[in-house]
Amino acid sequence: MKNAEHHISHPIFKTISQAADTLQLECYVIGGYVRDKIMNRETNDIDIVVIGSGIKLAEKVASILKTQVHVFKNFGTPMLKHDNIELEFVGARKESYHHSSRKPIVENGTLDDDQKRRDFTINALAIGLDNQNYGVLLDPFNGLEDIKNKIIRTPLEPEITFSDDPLRMMRAIRFASQLKFTIEDRSFKGICSQANRIEIISYERITEEFNKILLSSTPSYGINLLDESGLLSIIFPELVALKGVETIEKYGHKDNFYHTLQVLDNVSNGSNDIWLRWAALLHDIGKPATKKFTQGFGWSFHQHEIVGSRMTPAIFSRFKLPLNEKLKYVRKLISLHLRPIGLVEDFVTDSGIRRLLFDAGDDIDDLMLLCEADVTSKNPEKIKKYFKNFTKVRAKLKEIEEKDKLRNWQPPITGEIIMQTFNIPPSREVGEIKQQICDAILDGEIDNNYEEAYQFMLTLDPTTKK
Ligand code: ATP
Ligand code: MG
Repeated sequence: MKNAEHHISHPIFKTISQAADTLQLECYVIGGYVRDKIMNRETNDIDIVVIGSGIKLAEKVASILKTQVHVFKNFGTPMLKHDNIELEFVGARKESYHHSSRKPIVENGTLDDDQKRRDFTINALAIGLDNQNYGVLLDPFNGLEDIKNKIIRTPLEPEITFSDDPLRMMRAIRFASQLKFTIEDRSFKGICSQANRIEIISYERITEEFNKILLSSTPSYGINLLDESGLLSIIFPELVALKGVETIEKYGHKDNFYHTLQVLDNVSNGSNDIWLRWAALLHDIGKPATKKFTQGFGWSFHQHEIVGSRMTPAIFSRFKLPLNEKLKYVRKLISLHLRPIGLVEDFVTDSGIRRLLFDAGDDIDDLMLLCEADVTSKNPEKIKKYFKNFTKVRAKLKEIEEKDKLRNWQPPITGEIIMQTFNIPPSREVGEIKQQICDAILDGEIDNNYEEAYQFMLTLDPTTKK
C-alpha cells in the first residue's frame, strides 16, 4: 500500500477526517485533486467520495468549519467553500448507461464501483481520509504509472466508456492537450470508433472542453487529435473544409487548415486571450467559400475576410458562445486581418494608418499580433520582408497615434451641431456630412480639431447645394 499523506497536507483534510470518524463514515479524496497534486499542478477543487451519505459528512464538516453547505440544484451534490477551496461531497456510486443518453442509472456503490465509473486512469486515484485509510493511495488502474508516462487511458473497455458518455472523448483530447499527454492507442481507437456518438452531447458541454483545448499552450495538438479521431468533422465542419491543397497548371495554394493551426499556435505564444485565439482559429474560415482559380494567375480567396466575418455569428451561435461584444471583437479582427499587411505593399500612407487606427480602435494591438502570427511562410526571405514591413507599420501607428489620438476617436462635429448649423431635421444628409468630415480628417485634408472641422463643415452647406 502506498502512502500519499504528503498530498493531503492541507489542514482541511484533518477536519474532514475528524468529521468522518465522528460519523463512522469511510471517505476518500478522489479524481482531479489527487491527479493535480501528484503532477504538482495548482488545484483548489476537492472532490470527496463517501461510502454512504455525502450530505451528512458535508454538514458535519460545515459545522466544524462554521460555514454552510450549498446544494447544487441539478445534481443534488452538497458543496461548501472554505478560504479559496471548493469541496464537493458525493456518495460512492455505481453507474449503468442507456444508449440514448449520457445520464446514467445510479445506484449506491463501493469505492471500487466509484473508481470504475471514472473516465481515465489518471482521474480514478483516491486517497483515504478516515482513520482506517488515512493517507493510503488507492490506484486500481495504475493511474500513477500513467501520470509518470504521460498517458491518457480509460480504466475499462474504451468503446463502452466512450459510448456510455461521449463527452469523455472531448475530455480525453482536452486532457491530452492541457497536460501534453498521449492518448493510449486502444483508447484513441475507441474514440475513433465512437466519434459519431458525440451527437448526443449538447454544444454547451462540447464548447467547455473545446475552449480548454484552445487555452492549452499548443492548441494545435488538441485540434489535430480532434481531426484525426473524426470528431472535428462532426462538431466543426467549417474548419475541416479548410483542408487540402489543389494544384492546377503550375499553381498551388497552401493548406489552409494547417496554416490556421500554425497561426493559432503563434497567437497562443503571445497571448492567453480566448477570444483572440478564436479570431486566429476563424481568420481564414471564409476561404473555402471564396476560393477561385484564374488561368495564368492562380488561386485567389477574394474577400474571404468579409465572408469569414459573416460566417462567424452562426458558428458562435452553434457553439453557444456569447453573441455580444466578444462576437463583435472576433468579427472585427477577422475582417481587418489583411489590412496591416496591405498597407505596406507599396508605401505606408498616413491616411491608411489613420483609417486602420480608427477602425481597429482599442483592438489594434491584438490585430497586429494576429497579423504577425499569420506569417507562416517557409521562405526565410519572405518572412524577413514581412516582419520588416510590420515593424514599419508599428512605428507609423505609434507616430500617428501620438499625433492624432485616433484610438476610440469620435469626430469633433456631432449630428446635433450639423442639424443646428444648417437648421435641418435628422436625415440622411446629416449622416453624409458627418462622414465627409470624418473622411477629411482621416485622409489628412484637415487637422483633427473642432475649429478646422467646423470650417470644413461650412463648405458642405446642404442648403446652398442643388
Ligand atoms: P478539471 O477540474 O481540471 O477540469 P477534473 O478531472 O477535476 O479536471 P472535473 O470535471 O472537475 O474534472 O471532474 C472531477 C472528476 O470526476 C474527474 O477527475 C473524474 O474522475 C470524474 N469525471 C468527471 N467527468 C466525468 C465523466 N464525464 N465521466 C467519468 N468521470 C468523470
Ligand atoms: Mg475539477
